[in-house]
Amino acid sequence: MLVVMSIGHAEARQHLRVVSDIPPVHSLVASVSAGVNVPTLLLDSGHSPHHFSTKPSHAKLLQNADIVFLLGGTLLPQLNTLSNSVIKGESVVSLMDLPGTKEADNFDGHIDPHAWLDPRNAIVWVRQIGDEFIRLDPNNKTIYTNNVQESINSIEQTYTEIKALLKPFRSSPYLVQHDAYNYFEDAMLLTGGQAIARSDARLPGAKKLREMRKQAQQAHCLFTEEQHDASFIDVVSGDTNARRATLDPLGTRLAANATMYTTLLSNLAMTMADCLSGENKN
Ligand SMILES: [Zn+2]
Repeated sequence: MLVVMSIGHAEARQHLRVVSDIPPVHSLVASVSAGVNVPTLLLDSGHSPHHFSTKPSHAKLLQNADIVFLLGGTLLPQLNTLSNSVIKGESVVSLMDLPGTKEADNFDGHIDPHAWLDPRNAIVWVRQIGDEFIRLDPNNKTIYTNNVQESINSIEQTYTEIKALLKPFRSSPYLVQHDAYNYFEDAMLLTGGQAIARSDARLPGAKKLREMRKQAQQAHCLFTEEQHDASFIDVVSGDTNARRATLDPLGTRLAANATMYTTLLSNLAMTMADCLSGENKN
């Protein structure tokens, strides 16, 4: 797509310049626009969105975009501010603000920003991402409509499979590194999870840490994360012999493409099920 753009040929107008912020949003957008547009991903893989800072290159990408899909909410406040200052309002879609989006609270009583971890939200978003593409590019309506249906089918199938996979562990106790799984737990009916760090990845106070230490003794698994330093989980876990596994809620280990979203969900579920099913602790 970049090559076409730099030629400045009239054909370039057939393609929209599409920007998305985090890998799961990028994947959903890519699944809807497959065969027509290739979205650009703003957040470099391997970085925690909680420690994201905007650069001039981000502003430039946003300025030149025909449409921008952002997660919205409180995950990347800097990016939301930057987007509002550089792009014309009509072309920015904040997924968490779309009608039909489910909300889940974090342990601080605020809205958990990790809303892509509920596949039912992804389905709601895919439909509306499709509507946006059709509005901007009606000539390719048939492709977008088919892509939306395929994407929804695939998300629904994945949801059914992983919900069944996790069914035996609905009340299994476990700890997660940061408070990012409220949506996933709601969707999969998991009730045994406790988070150590807050939704924005900051550490909790001393009182909460002491509480966590007790819970770590009961936990069957401690889940660390790909994007965050795991050293503080040692502080909490003390001498527990709970098993450990690493979760990747952002999909940073995966190739950024149209199928990455469902792979992300499957990987989360398989890692959790594997760890929680272990009969022998470590
Ligand atoms: Zn997070």
